[in-house]
Formats: sequence, structure tokens, C-alpha cells
Amino acid sequence: MAENREIQRAQLKDKIATAISIVEYEVSDMMGHVSARSPEGDRFLLRHIRPPIDPRVPEDDVLEFDLTGKRLSGLREAGGSGFEIYFFTGPYNANKQTGAVIHCHPPMALALVAAGQKVVGITHRHKFDEVPVVPWVYGSLPEHGEIVTQALQHCCAVIIESHGAVITGETLEEACVNTIQLERTAKMILLAGALGPVKPVARDAVQKFESLVEVRQTKSGQALAEWRYYERLVKRGERWSRL
Ligand SMILES: [Zn+2]
Repeated sequence: MAENREIQRAQLKDKIATAISIVEYEVSDMMGHVSARSPEGDRFLLRHIRPPIDPRVPEDDVLEFDLTGKRLSGLREAGGSGFEIYFFTGPYNANKQTGAVIHCHPPMALALVAAGQKVVGITHRHKFDEVPVVPWVYGSLPEHGEIVTQALQHCCAVIIESHGAVITGETLEEACVNTIQLERTAKMILLAGALGPVKPVARDAVQKFESLVEVRQTKSGQALAEWRYYERLVKRGERWSRL
């Protein structure tokens, strides 16, 4: 049993490394963190997107926290007034189904919001109608974490004005694909919005699509297919075309 847990943990660390490669390339930003609930369920693993400042700390060092935000293991710099731990503890505590949380600073989504626009789903694969936006907050303050957690009640993502985004999923694969979709959708809206009003995808079209393509496993299933595509390229050291 304990051995199984160790295998699961090693697999999760590998998955976090892959998610970091995907998010770093897609979002074009080295700031942020990728996290996933550990196999035990009552703690989570977290890794910075950027490498450690201290050269003595291995680049693949992963931190582990309990659900209060107390660090259990890991070497690299974290903690203190600058560490946005409440963007992670909030969503994990609020919903047991939340298996992964990503915090990053997607420039296109932030540009759209800075212009007073919203990210809305515009294809049948988008898992959000309208991504909620909250005023600027910082995740090292518990009350700011609460604001973000509240906004995540009805959506897999929230955009924080003049700061970044927090994106969740039932699995790390799903949270990673949701992050890609959030930023790509923002780009599409920025492009389309220059030509005229942007038409959101109709909710009944999304429902019809989901009924046609066995999205029973959906949330995870759909994300998994996309995840596998990018994971394969990451493992081969290849890149892909970004929108
Ligand atoms: Zn941040």
C-alpha cells in the first residue's frame, strides 16, 4: 500500500513536470505554480514554473503542503508574505473533487479583462460560459484566497484583474487543458473582437456535442485526449503550434 502510494507520488511529480512544460510554453510566463492533490487526498504537491533561485536546490524539487498551507516537505524558497498559498488551499478545501489547481498570469486573458471584456466560451469544447473576474487580490492573504475560491464555485477558472488567473480541474490533466483553453480563447476573442461583436457558443450546442461524443468521462476524458497530445510532444522534446 505504502509502496503504491510512492509510485503514485512519483507519477504525479512526473505529471506536474509535464504540466509545467505545457503551461510555460502556452502562457509564455515563468511566474506561477502548478499543483495537484496528493494520493492521500489531504495534502497537495506544488512546483514553481520557474527554476529555483538557489543553485543548490534541484530544479525538479517539489513542495508538499497540508490543506492549511503548512509545508511538509521540499527544499526551495516558499512561504512568507510573498507566497500565494491561499490560491491553492482555498479551492482544495472548498471542493473535494478539485484534484489540481494552477495559478499563472496569462497575458491575453489579462489584456482582454483590462479592456473591460470577458472570456466567454466560443466553441463546443470550452468548459466555461463566462469566466468570472475578481478585482486585484494576492494569494498570500487568506481573505484574498477566499474571494478567488468563491468565484470558482461555478467555473473552472477565475481571472484576477491586473494579476493572473487560478484554474482548477478534477485532475491535473484537466486543469492543464483548462489553462490552455482559457488563454487560447482570450486570444481568439482579441482577434475576433477587432472585427465585430464576439458571439459566444450556445449552451445547447455544447450539451448536444457532449451527448454525441461520450463526454461521460468528459470532464476528465475530454481533457485527457488533449493532454496526451501535448504530453507526447513534451516527452519527445518537441513543440507545437500555438494559436
Ligand atoms: Zn500571482
